[in-house]
Amino acid sequence: MRGAVIHAPGDVRLETRENPTIQAPTDAVIRMSATCVCGSDLWDYRGINPVTSPTPMGHEYVGIVEEVGSHVTTITPGQFVIGSFFASDNTCEICRAGFQTSCVHREFVGAGGAQAEYLRVPLADGTLVATPDLPDATMIPSLLAASDVLGTGWFGAVAADVQPGKTVVVVGDGAVGLLAVLAAKELGAERIIAMSRHESRQKLATEFGATDIVTERGNEGVARIKDLTDGLGAHSVIEAVGTQESIMQAIRSARPGSAAGYVGVSHDVQLPGEELFYSHVRLLGGPAPVRRFLPDLIDRIWTGTINPGKVFDLTLPLADVAEGYRAMDERRAIKTLLTL
Ligand SMILES: [Zn+2]
Repeated sequence: MRGAVIHAPGDVRLETRENPTIQAPTDAVIRMSATCVCGSDLWDYRGINPVTSPTPMGHEYVGIVEEVGSHVTTITPGQFVIGSFFASDNTCEICRAGFQTSCVHREFVGAGGAQAEYLRVPLADGTLVATPDLPDATMIPSLLAASDVLGTGWFGAVAADVQPGKTVVVVGDGAVGLLAVLAAKELGAERIIAMSRHESRQKLATEFGATDIVTERGNEGVARIKDLTDGLGAHSVIEAVGTQESIMQAIRSARPGSAAGYVGVSHDVQLPGEELFYSHVRLLGGPAPVRRFLPDLIDRIWTGTINPGKVFDLTLPLADVAEGYRAMDERRAIKTLLTL
């Protein structure tokens, strides 16, 4: 099969790779319908995460089940399925509490490289969720978004305790931040302040439900949020970048007694204990347990309630995966969808 492999920063190639096979009786192999490039893939592409050997890339996937292992009971060949980047049994205590990305049996699905024609998914029964029927082609981008960026933005909103009628700040205007806006809207937030300085992203944020845009960053950004919230700060803040500046911006934009959900993959962030102590802000975040939200998200997409697939503003064939990375790296695209 063909699949994307990173060799060094800036060097992603489409190569011929071995077809994945069933290795454990709980595995499934799926034939990809579409895949995409994640903002977190750029950490490797930019050399911020070291690339020490050629590595298959991609962890977002939707597709048709090709084959299942002998212990798989709920997933069957021919179904259209979506799963998260971590495989989970969905039965252990941690999974049942809704934190499937910390499942005691978790495995990183992306290890198989989802930017490819086929993918092995471990723990298929616990990991994959089938759609009610085969989806229309127009629905596939939204279902693919549910595999990571929508589920991650949604977790950010839930972790930030977004409530009906409240004011929410979203720090970060990548695909996750934009879909956190959508999640906040769906969860009933009245006022949604998107922090963004890019016009095309501001436009999409507004389409997804943002009521205010703040272009300032850092302390100036925090001052703007305070201006907009009677000097108090927001009821909920979602952080979707992962840098020192963005997480401090999030904590400082939150009012005492509120919650901040942080879903940007953290890089070299150090939290000042004393400031945190006096902030009275609750923090919850980490790798989103997308699996918790998948049935609900699939339902909202299936019924046409939400259209998160709009975050894909560049569609390329898998053969052009290298250009898909370049376009995101150069911020010419919010998110690249790869067709097969
Ligand atoms: Zn588990």
